[in-house]
Amino acid sequence: MVKINECLLKMEKNNIFKNVALKVSEYKKKNPDKKIISLGVGDVSKPIVKPIIDAMHEAVDDLADSKTFKGYGSYYGYDFLKEKIIDNEYKDFDISLDEIYISNGTKTDSTSILELFDINSKICITDPIYPIYRDGAASLNRKVFILDIKNDLPVIPKEKYDIIYLCSPSNPMGIAYKKDYLKKWIIYAIKNESVILYDNVYSAFIESEDVPKSIYEIEGAKKVAIELRSFSKNASFTGVRCSYYIIPKEIKNNINEFWKRRTINRFNGADYIAQKGALASFLPESQKLIKDNIKYYKDNAKLLRKAFSNCGFHFIGGIDSPYLWVKIKENITSWEVFDIFLKTLNIVIIPGIIFGKNGDNYFRVSSLGKKKDVVEAIKRIEKYYNEKE
Ligand SMILES: *Cc1c(COP(=O)(O)O)cnc(C)c1O
Repeated sequence: MVKINECLLKMEKNNIFKNVALKVSEYKKKNPDKKIISLGVGDVSKPIVKPIIDAMHEAVDDLADSKTFKGYGSYYGYDFLKEKIIDNEYKDFDISLDEIYISNGTKTDSTSILELFDINSKICITDPIYPIYRDGAASLNRKVFILDIKNDLPVIPKEKYDIIYLCSPSNPMGIAYKKDYLKKWIIYAIKNESVILYDNVYSAFIESEDVPKSIYEIEGAKKVAIELRSFSKNASFTGVRCSYYIIPKEIKNNINEFWKRRTINRFNGADYIAQKGALASFLPESQKLIKDNIKYYKDNAKLLRKAFSNCGFHFIGGIDSPYLWVKIKENITSWEVFDIFLKTLNIVIIPGIIFGKNGDNYFRVSSLGKKKDVVEAIKRIEKYYNEKE
């Protein structure tokens, strides 16, 4: 009989967000009259803006005509998109076309990039964490170590680690790392010859002056950092699938070249239609509409911040990120608070335990939903906590 890859046993058995969905659907079945509002969503609610849709329609038509038909594209993405990304996002950092890779989602990229590094590399993640890093590393039989969190920031370790996952703006913690802090990580990585995997998919949400939009704003970062970005959360591409990442040639051991070797053999390039859509996201008319969408989510976040602070909660986030990370007031677990929100308030939140053991005193609230739902949820939350106290 075939034997199964034992690494799979080390991964979470269920998609952990599925546990939330299961509980919600069970409750709905028993209480069909209740109007449930989700503040749990990690997905966007705004549709893709018109200029991008038009570009994707055109791209579909290209495929129907032998003169414009596209078969296999470049393994690393079309130059038209790479040039546009460099022009718009990396102009100041001297990034060349062969340092950027187009792909089909940061979820995939954040794990597959580990194939670059020795199997015995010491990988560190934070707790709480975007759980894909942890389970992705487990699936490749990599060993992970957990960084402590102090004052809401991962503590820079004394020991040497090879790979460090940093997520900023952070999912789930909702905060973004400032320049001064990131400088210390870059110094650490240079000293220890480590590589930082910088998940920056929420960069469009950054508004604080002292938070860099890209890790390459920090001096020396091109020697040690791989930045991962996606069109998912800003251009509503969660269903279209297009992402990119930068592997600077300055990183030691020629990893940029090795990544090309790996990618030629493992990937046939991102979708042409998605890449045409991503290209159109940089049109001035798209940029304007995308900014409006981000502002819409940010306005939701502002309302949520106000409501949770009116109700006496301690929380972080919701400024440079769509998420609020809220401390539980009572002496109960995050699944227990999930149940109270679901059954008493008919609101879905994400229990912090999903993101790691240290998350069990917290829950995550998302501003990516519809404004009318956010407003209704806030009414329920304020009523409940004001009557209670
Ligand atoms: C949503 C999300 C992703 C996934 O992005 P895709 O490009 O849609 O795969 C990656 N990292 C974090 C932290 C996210 O929240």
